[in-house]
Amino acid sequence: MDNVEIIKNMPLDGGNLSLNFINTYKDRLVASPIDYLTGKEEWIAWLKKVGILENEITNFDDVDFNLKEVKKKREFLHRVFQGLAFHREIKEKDLKCFDSLLQKIRRATKIFVVDNIPQEYLEIDANDLNSYILKIGKAAHELLMSEKTDRIKECGNCGWLYYDSSKNKCRKWCNMDTCGNEVKARKYYESKKKLKDKIV
Ligand SMILES: [Zn+2]
Repeated sequence: MDNVEIIKNMPLDGGNLSLNFINTYKDRLVASPIDYLTGKEEWIAWLKKVGILENEITNFDDVDFNLKEVKKKREFLHRVFQGLAFHREIKEKDLKCFDSLLQKIRRATKIFVVDNIPQEYLEIDANDLNSYILKIGKAAHELLMSEKTDRIKECGNCGWLYYDSSKNKCRKWCNMDTCGNEVKARKYYESKKKLKDKIV
């Protein structure tokens, strides 16, 4: 299966747009993690998957895209949210990155009024696929300011970050059906093996 197909089928277990963005990199905890964002096609597939692609354009050949920049943003967001998950101090450099992203978001935020009700929207540049980072940044900012950052956790099996919305904040895995079951099966196998080794 190529990465576009994987992206189309991948679960969105992050519980927040920015965490799902971070989770386009899987198995960060092992020696060879898997990066699903490998090019423009994959980025478009992911934007469609999370439902934020506004573009009416169907041919993206002439639309700007900078993969390196997308990955840079993903890594800095990962450092910030993983830092929060493990109560680590967030580096000045990363806070500055957040500041500059926030300024861009503010510049792209437009106000309009419908039936005397003021509303706002984030203006996306149709000719620049990287401008969707602003939408992700907005979700990241909302999460950061939500006073619920203690619910941000890292899955001990695959390294994905997720928002724990469980009542007792006791969710251990990004998804019980996938990682939770994998860990359970592994533990079961290991305990059986130990028992067998003892008998032998
Ligand atoms: Zn997981």
